[in-house]
Amino acid sequence: MNDEIIIKSVANNRVRLKSDLFALSSNLELIENEFKDIFIDFRKNISCKSIIFKYNLNITLDSVIERLNNLFNITASIPASKAICGTSCSSCSLKKHDEKSWKRKLFEFALLSGYAIYIFVSENILGATIASTAFSLVGIISFVAAIPLLKESLEDIKQKRFTLQTFMSGTLLLAIFFGEATAAFEIIYILRGGMLLEEYIANRSRQEIQNLVELDVKKVYVLVDDVEIEVNIEELKQNDIVVCRSGEKIPVDGIITQGSAEINEAIINGRSEPEYKKESDEVFAGTVCERGRVFIKVIALGNETYISRTMREVELSLMQKSPSELEADRLANRLLKLGTALTVGTFLLTGSFSAAFSVMIIMSCPCATVLAASTAISGGIANAAKQGILIKGGDALENVSKSEVFCFDKTGTLTTGKPVITDIISLSNKDEKLLLEYAASAEYRNSHPLANSIVKYADEKNIEINQNILSEVIPGFGVKSKIDDKRLLVGNKALLNRYKISLKDYKNVSSKLLNSGKTAVYIALDDEILGVLGFTHEVRKGTKQMIEDLRQRGVKHIALLTGDEVKVANGFALDFGFDSVFANQSPKGKADAIEELKKKYKSVVMVGDGVNDTYAMSKADVAISFAAGGSEAAIAVSDVAITHSHPEDIVNLYDVSKKSLNVVNQNYYIGTSTNLAGVALSAMGRLTPVGAGLIHIGHTIGIMANSSRLAIDDNNS
Ligand code: ADP
Ligand code: MG
Repeated sequence: MNDEIIIKSVANNRVRLKSDLFALSSNLELIENEFKDIFIDFRKNISCKSIIFKYNLNITLDSVIERLNNLFNITASIPASKAICGTSCSSCSLKKHDEKSWKRKLFEFALLSGYAIYIFVSENILGATIASTAFSLVGIISFVAAIPLLKESLEDIKQKRFTLQTFMSGTLLLAIFFGEATAAFEIIYILRGGMLLEEYIANRSRQEIQNLVELDVKKVYVLVDDVEIEVNIEELKQNDIVVCRSGEKIPVDGIITQGSAEINEAIINGRSEPEYKKESDEVFAGTVCERGRVFIKVIALGNETYISRTMREVELSLMQKSPSELEADRLANRLLKLGTALTVGTFLLTGSFSAAFSVMIIMSCPCATVLAASTAISGGIANAAKQGILIKGGDALENVSKSEVFCFDKTGTLTTGKPVITDIISLSNKDEKLLLEYAASAEYRNSHPLANSIVKYADEKNIEINQNILSEVIPGFGVKSKIDDKRLLVGNKALLNRYKISLKDYKNVSSKLLNSGKTAVYIALDDEILGVLGFTHEVRKGTKQMIEDLRQRGVKHIALLTGDEVKVANGFALDFGFDSVFANQSPKGKADAIEELKKKYKSVVMVGDGVNDTYAMSKADVAISFAAGGSEAAIAVSDVAITHSHPEDIVNLYDVSKKSLNVVNQNYYIGTSTNLAGVALSAMGRLTPVGAGLIHIGHTIGIMANSSRLAIDDNNS
């Protein structure tokens, strides 16, 4: 068991933590009690082993974590400040890219470039010799330019650590003081250039994401005492009533209190068809009111809106190291030791300072190894973001194309969120209208695709819906509700089984529906089955192609996991070429199926849309939420959120993943081969320290250029 507490995301004073500790409800109770006074809002998600809370602003997150650690006697946990700034980003990415320091860095680099050109021209074209001693101009410039690095390594030395920085600083200082200041200058020049380029790529990725959420709304109309008043968007508060008209972007998350409109939610769920929304429907910031007028009660604003929160997770993820980045760090560490040994070795063997220096210079840039992975990964994440695929971490990006199994949920994921009612069959003395009234009343507050269809259908038929009856959602089964003091069930066969209601009198009715591939939803009052509704599902365009494409790319096993019945599921699986079917599954059943597949295959991906998939998603190696406009839970546990609902996006994701890994490998190849060649030449005395510096420039630029192909690449070209 891994008790360590991991900070998954932080925004303002809202935090998501993850730990195996949170899989035990007793622990969660303990936390809830202990932090009663500090937590404003506490949500737990046992299946994802995570908790989400807001804390009182007069304490720090560090102190919360410390108290948690004390509570469970954990010694090894990361302090909050480290977790956010230490492991996840180099310059604290949560702060916006600092325009000023960026400009300064660019300016400094431009100056250094000018000087580099001067040296190059003087030495190679004019044939002059540049003084390279410690107190020459080059020596002084190199020293000044190296100061940030020297400072860093001083820190490391104070903490008794031998790092890349210390090795490079050592190299630089030695080079400067032993009359190889030109070579030192070159190293520092490349180093600076590399850092700039890396920052540039990371920023571009962030910018891409930012563009997706850009809310260009500045002024909004608020209803005050029945009068519309124009205010700045910053002045909005929760529970304000905002007015939105045709053509306007909705600025907040909220509930419609009055009016109706066709709203385009493509940014959230990828559907290009606008959705008709009316009183008490939910709307999201960033979506567009295409036709109509709505009054919206504000629920979430600014950073707290659904889309901002999703994007922030992606932003954070850019800073989390992926397996190949960690591998690169390890490799760099080994290269560091190797470099030291080779340098000393060369000196002992050849007795030549210059040869030893050249080796040292060549080997002093394992940063290229580090860049090899990190630039490729952030390039890949940016590329995907541009296609509306939000990847919450380098490890997810890498794992997708390493996975041998892809599992898909059916309803809502592969079928559109709009099942169509085709049959209404009464099995009692109740008429169609009453059946619909019962079903729609029970489903009224539910967001399952079947529930939405029932409510919409009843609405169109002008059937009176009782909006105030309480109902309990049973994910994967249906709903349980109460009407006239009787228990009302609306759901599948498994739901009826659960309440020991026998279907055997109606076998032929249900098999008729199932044989034609329709989903059957039963309506039962107490122990009596009143009737059954039959639904057809429209399958998303491109589903079959997607499955073929995945297979063609080498995915070994493609499985369908569904709560729908065996017959329907089998028919579907046959049509679309799935390798296995897990039908009639409860949320737990889906999770077990994932566990089972994980035993047989290397890595398992789960693609799902709804609450009933979150448990399975939390068990998978990579969780992809697809078209999950409504289900926040599905997005919260997912590693990748696909905002459009095009099946081919899954293939695009696979391709970006594969391409990124390829680029990482190519980069290693570029780095290692030039390093090897360089060391060999240096040891033989064929490479001067300056030449060694040039090799550095060459391969660092090569690696950067190779990675930036990913970020620039538009589509699966
Ligand atoms: P899938 O796993 O294919 O996405 P779900 O688990 O969401 O499907 O649903 C499985 C089955 O459970 C549905 O086919 C339906 O019969 C029943 N069901 C689930 N939710 C509801 C609901 N709100 N109303 C009626 N039936 C439901
Ligand atoms: Mg589903």
